[in-house]
Amino acid sequence: MQPDRPEDDRSTSLNESQSPLRRALSATLVYLVAGLIWITFSDRIVEVWFPDPRTLSAMQTWKGFLFVVSTGLVLFVAILRLLTKDRLLLSLQVNQRRALRQREKQLTVLMDNLPGMAYRCLYDDQWTMVFVSGGCERLTGYTPDELINNKIVSFVDLMDADTAKQIAEDVGIAVRRGEPFSVEYAMTRKDGRQVWVWERGCGVEQDDGAACLEGILLDITDRKALETELEELATLDPLTGLLNRREFSRVLEEELERARRYERPMALVWIDFDHFKEVNDSWGHAAGDAVLCSVSRTLEDSVRSVDAIGRFGGEEFVIVLPEMDIDEARDTAERLRQRVSHKPIMLESGHSIPLTISLGVAVFPVHGHSLDTLCGTADKAMYQAKMQGRNCVVMAQPVQPVHNES
Ligand code: GH3
Ligand code: MG
Ligand code: MG
Repeated sequence: MQPDRPEDDRSTSLNESQSPLRRALSATLVYLVAGLIWITFSDRIVEVWFPDPRTLSAMQTWKGFLFVVSTGLVLFVAILRLLTKDRLLLSLQVNQRRALRQREKQLTVLMDNLPGMAYRCLYDDQWTMVFVSGGCERLTGYTPDELINNKIVSFVDLMDADTAKQIAEDVGIAVRRGEPFSVEYAMTRKDGRQVWVWERGCGVEQDDGAACLEGILLDITDRKALETELEELATLDPLTGLLNRREFSRVLEEELERARRYERPMALVWIDFDHFKEVNDSWGHAAGDAVLCSVSRTLEDSVRSVDAIGRFGGEEFVIVLPEMDIDEARDTAERLRQRVSHKPIMLESGHSIPLTISLGVAVFPVHGHSLDTLCGTADKAMYQAKMQGRNCVVMAQPVQPVHNES
């Protein structure tokens, strides 16, 4: 940081014209000149004014007194000014020190009460901490002593390797541009718990020229959890944890676009529970909910990680199977049907509920090119399965190409 210009001017004038030696020499010179003038001219004047020898002698004695009194007076005023100045300077220093201590205390209290910590670290691979505020232990689980100079652990070790690399890149860009940086990342505390932090800092240069980073870290774990929860609420069905209709439609559109672009097949399985109303009527709505959740888990466990399952409404589920042709899709749907029908759902009361599902299967591009056509034909095939007595899989009928179908 550049010092203020007025301070520069002040220190220059202090050094050159007001040095104690120069001022003392000037004062002594003035005293010597005044003394010499006094001695030389006062004797002559007294001799002229008082020719009588007795009066002259008395006058010379008085003249001596006058000289001593006047120089004493000058000395008194000079020393008084000096001591008053010293005293003022001293009280100024004491006040400044007191204000500085108070500011330090306020700053420490402020930093210690941060929902996180303030830090200064070397700009090296380890992010070697040279200062951390009291909140360090609350945030990381490590005491400042354990973290400073990488005594027990280095700051970079609190993050996983990929995160550390990404953060180092982001920070590097900001430091090179001379701008402050803001980053968010997860780190692992001493007790193994993961916390999310938001960091804002900037690059600074130490007195010895070493590059440093200075900033604050705030604990945003609660905010992150809320964000995740909101994200899930927006995309997942709260009862079954499967994708909700809106999110599933988005995924389906994405998969269809991919299938079109790479000219690959993609299957859609439409599922409806058989006589589910009877489950509710016989066992209650809560048991019906438990059945919905249990079947959801069975379906999830029976498909690949690239497949997506959505709850379209009530007890109607849809599965998108990327890269699956008709034969593979038929086999998968049949496997799902068997898994559900062979696994009665156990209620907490100990009762088991047998359940079957009806499935309709449509495959891109054989049964349709657009989302609406594919969904419509899969739904129709599922309806056919109901007509054929339920607990079965029906493949959609190939559709006649229509002009406006995309
Ligand atoms: P079908 O074999 O013809 O499909 O007979 P069904 O009884 O399953 O008939 P339908 O599919 O029309 O019935 C859907 C039932 O699912 C009606 C409704 O009470 C029930 N249901 C829908 N959503 C929920 C839910 O979230 N929880 C529970 N417990 N039941 C639900
Ligand atoms: Mg049903
Ligand atoms: Mg239904």
